[in-house]
Amino acid sequence: MHKVLIEDIEKEPNKILHYTFDDCIEELNCDLYSELDLKSLGEFIEVTGYAEGKIKLTCDRCLKEFEQDLDIDIEETYAKHALQDEYGSELELSRGQFITDLNGEKEIDIYDLLYQSVILSLPNKKVCGINCKEGLFVSDEDVEIRDERMDVFKSIKIERKD
Ligand SMILES: [Zn+2]
Repeated sequence: MHKVLIEDIEKEPNKILHYTFDDCIEELNCDLYSELDLKSLGEFIEVTGYAEGKIKLTCDRCLKEFEQDLDIDIEETYAKHALQDEYGSELELSRGQFITDLNGEKEIDIYDLLYQSVILSLPNKKVCGINCKEGLFVSDEDVEIRDERMDVFKSIKIERKD
């Protein structure tokens, strides 16, 4: 589901394949719409575009569920073949852009790309709104003890649907 064969990108007239994603990232309770251009640059595949939608989050102050709008810029580069081993699977370029090593895989996993992009876009502290009055008696110290980023990863497990 939501995978694009590199072969198909290269069959396109300008080696640019347009992909529209309009689906739910179930693991994140997130409805997402995304328009992406996948461009083959020979050894690299560049994916650019945007994603917008809504995600259900739990407020860190009052613990109520709330919806937050998402508006994310996508810019990701994949290397078809292994980069130098010492860099590991993700190589950071000088501009803060990452290159993901496909390790010879023949397809780009759009679902996984969007899943990662949504997680990275979430704020460290999730508050339902400026009017949230709950938890005012909780000191900032108490709040800081929890490493919220880790909580995200603990509560979410990707189930691959290959
Ligand atoms: Zn709240």
